[in-house]
Amino acid sequence: MAPRHILDLSVEEQRSFIDSFDMVISDCDGVVWLLHGWIPGTGEAINALKSAGKSVKFVSNNSFRTDGQYMDKFDYIGAKNVQHDDIVHPVKSIVRYLHKHKPGKRVYSLMSLEANETLRKHGIEYESLQIKEHLTSATLVEHLAIEKPVEAVLFDIHLDMSYVELAKAIRHLQLNKNCELIAGGSDVIMPLTENLKVPGFYDFLQHVRHYTDRDAIFLGKPSPLLGDLLKEMYNIQAPERCIFIGDMLVQDVQFGKSCGFQSLLVLSGILTKADMDAAPPEAQPDYYADSLADFIELFKNLQ
Ligand SMILES: [Mg+2]
Repeated sequence: MAPRHILDLSVEEQRSFIDSFDMVISDCDGVVWLLHGWIPGTGEAINALKSAGKSVKFVSNNSFRTDGQYMDKFDYIGAKNVQHDDIVHPVKSIVRYLHKHKPGKRVYSLMSLEANETLRKHGIEYESLQIKEHLTSATLVEHLAIEKPVEAVLFDIHLDMSYVELAKAIRHLQLNKNCELIAGGSDVIMPLTENLKVPGFYDFLQHVRHYTDRDAIFLGKPSPLLGDLLKEMYNIQAPERCIFIGDMLVQDVQFGKSCGFQSLLVLSGILTKADMDAAPPEAQPDYYADSLADFIELFKNLQ
């Protein structure tokens, strides 16, 4: 059945829709706010969902923001009572994975300064290269020398990523066959502003894989491993009573569906209704809305 707009449902259908879930897991960029800008009414909508007894969590593929910076944004939109543990982004998933599967092991980070700050906070010993000098082949050789091996190379969106950092990651993976390649945000395209979409970090990850013949362990959306982690973190026993809200078909709708969650696509990000309609039926969400703020009107209808 074609996805239905939540405000096109009859009042009775809106009531049973709201009653059909206990937990909301929402993407952030394009749903709660824009990467550079705001979406009116989203804070109020989040508060309304909470007032209706829903547990509200947030999952983003964006780790180039610290938890503190996330909290500042939630404060700005007036979303009340959001806790650090309510927000999951790739670096936090990576930290959980490392604590579970590689406890106490040293890692190499191909991630942002903000992500490295999260590693440091969680007591993970990491190596990273921050080289600002002009490189020659001689200094490159020096920087690529391996002093201590690592048990994992961590890959995420990293706007300052450089050749020498990539080359060192490849060296580490080539030298230690047990070294895992763990990837967070690796979207193919990154929408920066309404009119500016740039290539994401997917191809840099492919570059590392190409020279190391290594598969990556993905811990960002839409990886099923992230789904397992969310179910464990939030003790989700009945996935069908959870709804995933996002603005992308693969990272959000497909991810939500693969977890057994209900799915809601909002058109406040980069996708239009025409994009949604053009997708094959199995890639379409259960519901759609113009914006998260449509929940404000929906709750008014139920009063
Ligand atoms: Mg998004």
